[in-house]
Amino acid sequence: MKILNGKEFADKIKDEVKADVEVLTSDGKSVYLAVIQVGDDAASSTYVRNKHNACVRCGITSSTYNLANDESEENLIEMIQTLNKNNYVHGILVQLPLPNHIDEHKVIQSIAPEKDVDGFHEINVGKLMVGEDTFIPCTAKGIIELLKYNDVEIEGKHCVVVGRSNIVGKPVAMELLHHNATVTMCHSKTKELEKICKEADILVCAIGKPKFFNRDYIKEGAVVVDVGIHRTENGLCGDVDFDDVKDIVSAITPVPGGVGQMTIAMLMKNCVQAAQMQLK
Ligand code: NDP
Repeated sequence: MKILNGKEFADKIKDEVKADVEVLTSDGKSVYLAVIQVGDDAASSTYVRNKHNACVRCGITSSTYNLANDESEENLIEMIQTLNKNNYVHGILVQLPLPNHIDEHKVIQSIAPEKDVDGFHEINVGKLMVGEDTFIPCTAKGIIELLKYNDVEIEGKHCVVVGRSNIVGKPVAMELLHHNATVTMCHSKTKELEKICKEADILVCAIGKPKFFNRDYIKEGAVVVDVGIHRTENGLCGDVDFDDVKDIVSAITPVPGGVGQMTIAMLMKNCVQAAQMQLK
């Protein structure tokens, strides 16, 4: 069984990003990411801190704007519109989820598409759908890069993606399709989930339920991508019961040290891509 080590590869990518940033900033310019967090959800704060640390490592300037939990949607959108117009800002990221009184969709649509480094704006989602160059959502991009780096063949394989969220499941499925996989998407209303998963050559688990996928869901020799991240008393775990499946898979992403690391590295890549486009 091979561990698909996201940490090791992500470190390599961050070194490459740093070199790209050095080229872009050689004449005194900077690559700038603005991160907005509304409220003080502990998990969100950790993600925001990790993103900031990755920026520091890559030589990207980043500012975090902390807004109160009861900040109005109007003020948030006004802040985004100001950042949209600021030529020093290349990337804008709003940490999700947002408090219930704020319409997430409306907020995301207010980000200028050329600064939408998460790739969640409708324009960028549409471009991904038709296969045009765009910001690919970081988790989807990270999964594909990690599979390719480890020489996991995607073309012609049956890939089953469990989870159909706009930020993970759908873009992963679309990217796998662009790489010529045969893709099945599953969700909470899917019947015979176990049977479908057991047909997968590559199984992507993104449902947000700790250790849900045990060996009953996995074909011998399958490649398993575990997207889930859960904090438990015993540390972090994923959607996959790692210990139960490790003897039957051919390769698997660990949690921690797998997809999560790749997601942040891809965010750094998207920031450089945004800056390259805007500084041209
Ligand atoms: P969402 O809650 O938005 O989506 C969950 C999806 O899983 C839904 O499509 C839902 O179906 C489906 N689902 C839920 N329960 C079941 C079930 N029992 N059987 C089949 N399908 C089910 O989650 P996200 O996509 O945002 O995140 C998924 C996981 O990935 C979370 O653990 C999250 O923390 C993690 N994550 C990790 C990242 C990383 O970098 N590693 C990045 C982003 C997220 P339905 O649509 O029918 O409700």
